[in-house]
Amino acid sequence: MAVVGVDFGTLHSKIGVARHRGIDIIVNEVSNRATPSLVSFGPKQRSIGEAAKTLETSNFRNTVGGLKRLIGRTLNDPEVHEVEKNFHNATFVDVNGTVGFQVNYLGEQRQFSITQLTAMYLGKLRDIAASELKTGVSDIVITVPGWFTDIQRRALLDAAQIAGLNPLRLINDTTAVALGYGITKSDLPEPENPRHVVFVDVGHSSTSCSVVAFSKGRLDVKATAYERNAGGRDIDHALVRHFAEEFKEKYKIDVLSSPKATFRLAAGCEKVKKVLSANAEAPLNVESIMNDIDATSRLTREEYEKLIESVLERIPGPIQQALTESGLLLEQIDTIELVGGGTRIPAVRAKIQSVFEGKVLSTTLNQDEAAARGATFACAMLSPIFRVRDFSMHDISPYPIKFHWEHQPEEPNDETELLVFPKGNIIPSTKALTFYRKQPFEIEVAYADPAGLPGGINPWIAKFTAKNVSPNENGDHSTVRVRTRLNLHGVISFEQAYLEVVEETDEPMQVDAEGAEQQPKKKKVSKKIDVPFVWGSTSLDPSVVEKFKEQEAEMYAADKLVMDTEDRKNALEEYVYDMRGRLDERYVAYVKAQEKETLLKALQDAEDWLYSEEGEDATKSAYVERLDALKKLGDPITGRYKETEQRSAVVSQLRE
Ligand code: ATP
Ligand code: MG
Repeated sequence: MAVVGVDFGTLHSKIGVARHRGIDIIVNEVSNRATPSLVSFGPKQRSIGEAAKTLETSNFRNTVGGLKRLIGRTLNDPEVHEVEKNFHNATFVDVNGTVGFQVNYLGEQRQFSITQLTAMYLGKLRDIAASELKTGVSDIVITVPGWFTDIQRRALLDAAQIAGLNPLRLINDTTAVALGYGITKSDLPEPENPRHVVFVDVGHSSTSCSVVAFSKGRLDVKATAYERNAGGRDIDHALVRHFAEEFKEKYKIDVLSSPKATFRLAAGCEKVKKVLSANAEAPLNVESIMNDIDATSRLTREEYEKLIESVLERIPGPIQQALTESGLLLEQIDTIELVGGGTRIPAVRAKIQSVFEGKVLSTTLNQDEAAARGATFACAMLSPIFRVRDFSMHDISPYPIKFHWEHQPEEPNDETELLVFPKGNIIPSTKALTFYRKQPFEIEVAYADPAGLPGGINPWIAKFTAKNVSPNENGDHSTVRVRTRLNLHGVISFEQAYLEVVEETDEPMQVDAEGAEQQPKKKKVSKKIDVPFVWGSTSLDPSVVEKFKEQEAEMYAADKLVMDTEDRKNALEEYVYDMRGRLDERYVAYVKAQEKETLLKALQDAEDWLYSEEGEDATKSAYVERLDALKKLGDPITGRYKETEQRSAVVSQLRE
């Protein structure tokens, strides 16, 4: 069993694993510690993560990124149109009420929902972890932005399930950072006098802030606030628009009219942005941007800061808001910790600094990996295989949640709704609600303040139906208790419903000291009788999850076959070259002339075939057969060589 934590990022994700000596951030197949959040479709296979990154420009129409920004969204969400479409080149489609993409895959137009695409990506992260740990990966903790709503969280949980993962928790990213910070500290104060830390995360797409109180063995999130649309990609976008404008004049080209050119320019702008974090000026060079033009330009830090002013302006807002909502004064803040790639930008730091005048901004955490480390700690805490120091975490929900039901004439108070989980409610938490009913009833759960939700997210959360409720024995309403939970993932669930019945029973006859019999006493006992109930949420129906799982397994097997075929083809090619070389070198003394001639001929045939139309694109078994046939001829030679080698090794050992 493995313990894995993933920081699921807009641009890329980081994977942490727990080992007995601690937590490591692991590298992917090309030794990078971050894996691009991209899925690309080709004529023969899917490419995911690093492999997709290399196709991002050439195959832009069939490459999908920004998965995290779209999961749980609908195609008609205004934020998808106004914001997200700026960052995508594949064709958006609706797939059963959620955002999806139409791509050309295996020579056909195929549509995939964002949940399926995210599942593909999570499957890649799973494989990276599995190959590092040399074991299957199932239990996992994944980070989400604190502003994710029920529907977004549920869609991610569905995606994880499709990828064969068992998410033990979806953890808010700044809370994961806070956990990683707190759990390693041995000098935390007593609860009466907690240490207050503000975490600011400026990522690729959004900015988050949380104010957290730490004391021995625990953390309490006091307040959180977000600016969903302020991050590195907005800065890149501002630079792209600037240079596109400049190149209209300078080169008479309209970069924005061509997705490929826009892509090349965006990649150049990301470099400029990074260079300007450490230098006062940066060059921009984009080779053959379009019409065979090599575009070049320069940007000074001053001009740059002016260009990105509209992004910079949005950074202090959430920090101010979180501070205000925490009820703490600036002087009560002990530390300000910065994370996320965007906090490397001096102008971003200056904006953060403007909120905390006179205080030092610290970067004691690994800016890129703190969230992944925290998520891995969270997974280790929930997994039975590791013993982790006791540390309790009290996160909070940013949106108020209300429960609503039909008006009931017999209800003693005739309310029809209740704010069950107000803004700032602790996650996780369970609440018991009491209903007085004579018949089955329904409860609808929704966010109480739809205007405060991201974009056009539907405020509806869940519907609960209590079945088989009838009047009690006196014909009066029954008392039904319903237990509901804002669970570890930050989503609503219904745990239990029961009737509370008070029964009177006779106590056993008592005899007093004088031996006289007493009147039997009545004793009241309350009994719980389960009420059958059903409830529905925005999660995919299990049958749909099953169907997607099957489709994923098919695509996975097809990809694996393509990779295995490629691998066998390479093995054949390698054998041809190695063997040919060795026949004139190390095998010279072990090969007969006739043997050599036959083998050389066979090697030549194999080579010719490999470069023929047939051999270029053959089946896995065709490569395997060819290689086996060559080995039949070559093995006797290799065998003789090895035997002699071994013998001489023994002889030299004897001599020693
Ligand atoms: P999000 O948290 O918004 O989902 P993410 O976790 O993928 O996104 P991060 O890894 O925190 O994002 O940050 C990536 C962003 O930081 C990118 O826009 C990247 O260009 C930017 N970035 C990284 N290094 C630097 C640097 N030295 N200077 C400026 N920007 C940088
Ligand atoms: Mg991030």
